[in-house]
Amino acid sequence: MKKHNFSAGPAILPASVMEQAAQAAVDFNGIGLSILEISHRSPEFSAVLDEAEILVRDIAQLSEDYAVLFLQGGASSQFFMTAMNLLNDNEMAAYVDTGSWSAKAIKEAKNFGKVEAVASSKEQNYTFIPKGYEVPANAKYLHLTSNNTIVGTQFHSWPETKVPFVADMSSDIFSRPIDVERFDLIYAGAQKNIGPAGLTLVIVRKEALGKVSRNIPTMLDYRTHISKKSTFNTPPVFSIYVAMLTFRWIKANGGLQAMAKKNAAKAQLLYQEVDANPLFTGTVTDKADRSHMNATFVMAPGKEELQASFLDMCKEAGCVGVKGHRSVGGFRASIYNAMDIGSVQVLVDVMKGFAEQYG
Ligand SMILES: *Cc1c(COP(=O)(O)O)cnc(C)c1O
Repeated sequence: MKKHNFSAGPAILPASVMEQAAQAAVDFNGIGLSILEISHRSPEFSAVLDEAEILVRDIAQLSEDYAVLFLQGGASSQFFMTAMNLLNDNEMAAYVDTGSWSAKAIKEAKNFGKVEAVASSKEQNYTFIPKGYEVPANAKYLHLTSNNTIVGTQFHSWPETKVPFVADMSSDIFSRPIDVERFDLIYAGAQKNIGPAGLTLVIVRKEALGKVSRNIPTMLDYRTHISKKSTFNTPPVFSIYVAMLTFRWIKANGGLQAMAKKNAAKAQLLYQEVDANPLFTGTVTDKADRSHMNATFVMAPGKEELQASFLDMCKEAGCVGVKGHRSVGGFRASIYNAMDIGSVQVLVDVMKGFAEQYG
């Protein structure tokens, strides 16, 4: 039976990417060696790395002001690396607290400078994106989590401020066009929308670097990786290869405009059912803030005991990964770039069938 993978991450990748990755693990480009056993300094891998960067530049329309880095340590390491590289001890950075990933970023940044949480939706369980707050003009940067993977909210417009943005785009990178010029730095763990775990994509404005006075360990200094083109040490070779294949797929499928259109259509289909179905309730209080990547919902009030039965019915239809994050419960359907609308329709049909049976 076909599986419909609604997992939040590691997550679905295009089937064609998976097939090429599998082939490359056996014999990479017919060279008689696996991608897993060739040097990261070999001409074969250098070509992969070059193409990955060219594709990121093309997809995101990056100017030469920006560097593209393929790092390790996950988005979680970027929580501290951003502040370590961008913020002096006596300077202040503003953070918007929209979920537990934001909260973790705030905690780590405090190791390196002053942090001001300018807005938070924590008191309401992060069920909306805060609006209408001031960002102090002296903030070095404003940190945002563009899509809140766990609670299912997403920034659909950016705060109005002249302060440059630093963004954790782990779960919506390349799901829609990005106004890159507004950002000093964008980071994303690959395993949500662009590739396997083990790779972290960083897009950084080169001019924003080199302005802090502390000593930065070599491996944690973005400038090291810029000057060594992401091969200061052994990079995550296979993850970069698979991400490159995904970038090719994004480009071949119309780029970010096309991704955004497809993702909006999938989200609309799913949320329409969440709203219409008497057995389910959406968890995001301001519908305008609903994520196009992670749709969160719960059983309607009084129907909580049906939760396990719904998950069983999902499983029978091949829909996997629908269970909500362990910290919030309920359901979460992640509908990243690689998911086709046909799979969302399967889940919607399960929801309809569930209401017929238990409603
Ligand atoms: C998954 C996720 C993270 C954590 O990523 P790691 O690569 O596991 O460190 C951070 N931020 C967001 C928004 C995420 O979705």
